[in-house]
Amino acid sequence: MSAPGTEADVIVVGAGLAGLVATAELAQAGKKVLLVEQEPAASLGGQAWWSFGGLFLVDTPEQRRMGVKDSLDLARQDWFGSAGFDREEDHWPRGWAEAYLDFAAGEKRAWLREKGVGFFPVVGWAERGGYTALEHGNSVPRFHIVWGTGPGILEPFIRAVRAGVQAGLVSALHRHRVDALIVEAGSVVGVRGTRLAASSAPRGVASSRDAVGDFDLRASAVIVTSGGIGGNHDLVRAQWPERMGEPPEHLLSGVPAHVDGRMLGIAEQGGARLINGDRMWHYPEGITNWDPVWAAHGIRILPGPSSLWLDATGARLPAPLFPGFDTLGTLEHILKTGYEHSWFVLTQKIIEKEFALSGSEQNPDLTGKDLRLLAQRVSPGAPGPVEAFKQKGVDFVVADTLFELMAGMQKLSPDIPLDFARIEQEIVARDRQLDNDFAKDAQINAIRQARHYRGDKLIRVATPHKLLDPQNGPLIAVKLHILTRKSLGGIETDLSARALGWNGRPVPGLFAAGEASGFGGGGMHGYRSLEGTFLGGCLFSGRTAGRAVAAAL
Ligand SMILES: Cc1cc2nc3c(=O)[nH]c(=O)nc-3n(C[C@H](O)[C@H](O)[C@H](O)COP(=O)(O)OP(=O)(O)OC[C@H]3O[C@@H](n4cnc5c(N)ncnc54)[C@H](O)[C@@H]3O)c2cc1C
Repeated sequence: MSAPGTEADVIVVGAGLAGLVATAELAQAGKKVLLVEQEPAASLGGQAWWSFGGLFLVDTPEQRRMGVKDSLDLARQDWFGSAGFDREEDHWPRGWAEAYLDFAAGEKRAWLREKGVGFFPVVGWAERGGYTALEHGNSVPRFHIVWGTGPGILEPFIRAVRAGVQAGLVSALHRHRVDALIVEAGSVVGVRGTRLAASSAPRGVASSRDAVGDFDLRASAVIVTSGGIGGNHDLVRAQWPERMGEPPEHLLSGVPAHVDGRMLGIAEQGGARLINGDRMWHYPEGITNWDPVWAAHGIRILPGPSSLWLDATGARLPAPLFPGFDTLGTLEHILKTGYEHSWFVLTQKIIEKEFALSGSEQNPDLTGKDLRLLAQRVSPGAPGPVEAFKQKGVDFVVADTLFELMAGMQKLSPDIPLDFARIEQEIVARDRQLDNDFAKDAQINAIRQARHYRGDKLIRVATPHKLLDPQNGPLIAVKLHILTRKSLGGIETDLSARALGWNGRPVPGLFAAGEASGFGGGGMHGYRSLEGTFLGGCLFSGRTAGRAVAAAL
């Protein structure tokens, strides 16, 4: 039996970062909100809680203190060079990209600072590109890590939503799964769904889908903030673009199971147009979590540039596909080799300085705002979570000699013959490039170039050294898997976050934000992202949706 229709001004579907930001804006505007979420309260905040908290910001005091000169023009050049917009349906995504760039170079930092969000002083350099000035990548470091990582970025919005609950404006309905939009006379007037059994599943752990009833909720507007598709490997494979080769058979999940993509189909049935579903952002540097929270749980290595990257047979990846340069270019190359995994070969010196693991729980110093723990980043030894992977991770091989290392690699991948002679030749040749302060090897030059940036020299890029010199050892090899993460396409929206239908006109009553809307417009990143633009995309599109709905009511 359906519960009687409940009246509110707005229904927000999904209590991740985008939904929380939209709800906070609406509550601040005095609107009544029903925040409908399929997971238990323990998972409030969705993916953002697990995130590393890296934010793309342009021309900030943090950058200037590190000697980085950035500008809106440079950021726009990088964004559009990476996005490669080339489709008719890129009209709104382009508009969102422009608006988002203005936000990232404008009020974003001050708006967050006002809410108490602080930043780690060393700005990171993600997606370095490695091509020419108009092509993919960040020309300068822009990855600002929130002090407190994922939980730190969620904190002010959770606080605002809780204030809304106390003021009687917000009702948070957990274990409510939306199954359909209610459409009357062409307008979206509510949602219908299933009440799920109470669950004690801890944060991130898959909760049951046992039904205990159903519900009908009505409001003047519905905002869909249900996230992307990264937890649904069937959907990822079904939408896998031909340009990236065959869909991978083996995938690690970089997101919890609730990132199921189901609500996108429901929004489509309710009249919304989905665009750019074949644009996704998955990582080639995934490792199997030795301490998993969700099924097939993988962690992404955020690598510095020094590890040698080999394909499954031992052939070195071509320039500029070095660690941290071009996520999708590398993924495409790897899949075209006919194999799905690849290898990092590195030294103890490299792992100590260059391995960061993405995720709040993998960075207890930054997440816990623990200065004592943070100081260990500059002392000898790998950070605790990295060392734990080195010792317990199934993808790690540690050895004193190259032969032992290769034998260990072969054991981890018994069906694909590794070309030992070729690996040795590559490494010896690479090491010879270090006899002078100048070289022809593009990766060695890129490592040296990176160290001109103070932040990289300080905590991110190891002093260039020979891999085979025992004083830099032991040698380490890491088997890398493809790890799902973000959807770059989704519900097409205009600049007021109104969902558009197949006729290009707004679907009355329906709005979308966050990953469900491709972070705005149905894909503001185009084909490729500059990193740190996903949390930021949730902030901007969630805020836009909340404000637009509040103004329209
Ligand atoms: C480990 C990790 C590290 C990351 N690091 C970064 C980073 O450093 N920088 C960055 O920019 N981005 C990062 N990201 C990406 C970023 O966190 C996400 O893209 C973003 O948080 C998505 O937020 P969202 O609100 O759109 O969706 P979600 O967080 O997925 O929330 C959507 C919510 O909707 C609910 N829902 C879905 N369908 C229904 C339904 N039918 N009925 C009811 N509820 C429903 C879900 O249960 C979920 O709670 C990271 C992500 C992960 C997992």
